[in-house]
Amino acid sequence: QKLPQKNKKINSLINFSKYIELKNLNFRYQNDNPWVLNNINVKIEKGARVGVIGPTGSGKSTLIDILMGLLPPTKGEFLIDGKLISNLNVAAWRDHIAHVPQNIFLSDGTIEENIAFGVAKDRINHERVEEAAKQAQISCLIEEWQNGYQTYVGERGIKLSGGQRQRIGIARALYKKADVLIFDEATCSLDNETEQVMTSYIEDSCKDKTVIIATHKHSLLSLVDRVIIIVDGKIIA
Ligand code: ADP
Ligand code: MG
Repeated sequence: QKLPQKNKKINSLINFSKYIELKNLNFRYQNDNPWVLNNINVKIEKGARVGVIGPTGSGKSTLIDILMGLLPPTKGEFLIDGKLISNLNVAAWRDHIAHVPQNIFLSDGTIEENIAFGVAKDRINHERVEEAAKQAQISCLIEEWQNGYQTYVGERGIKLSGGQRQRIGIARALYKKADVLIFDEATCSLDNETEQVMTSYIEDSCKDKTVIIATHKHSLLSLVDRVIIIVDGKIIA
């Protein structure tokens, strides 16, 4: 009973005001697997916008998953403001992050539950949901539906276009009030609507946020101020 309490205390100590750093980092999925990332050294200042590009299989998603605290480094260090991230404090780091995937997972609940993702139904702040939807430019559509924010999506509910799903992903990020936004484009077939939603969101609403985009699309690179090129698990530029 005491342990979660203690962990909670440690968790509350992750402060991000300077930089994210990967130091001499190596990663492989399993002991007998080849190395996927080799000697990675990166420093990302708070508020920076960084693009991660490279061919398929070069390690972009793996790098992103490490930055999100989903995969622990096999060797080397992952630091926030110089503080080592370990399994004791990684949950607190994840609280800083909103991941906006290309194909957002919509659970079989209401649109409100999907925006306030992971929050217990009776703890959802309705005003904040509406505010997030408004900023993500999806509120007009939701309000057109008969049941509004209580409309079921996912398996039981309505179908949404790629761009609309992306807007829900953005609303989810806004609800969370995360200060780090991560976009990992899984394929090169980002449709134009989705790309536009993403571009205008990053340009208009991410002024003080740290943004990391893994992409094949060179058109998205106009949004970033720095590009990391990764080939065969190594940063080449
Ligand atoms: P990218 O996002 O640049 O396409 P990934 O990070 O997804 O690259 O993959 C990098 C390498 O790691 C690839 O060789 C891929 O096959 C391998 N890989 C990815 N995920 C796993 C996994 N869960 N288990 C083992 N190998 C994996
Ligand atoms: Mg990938």
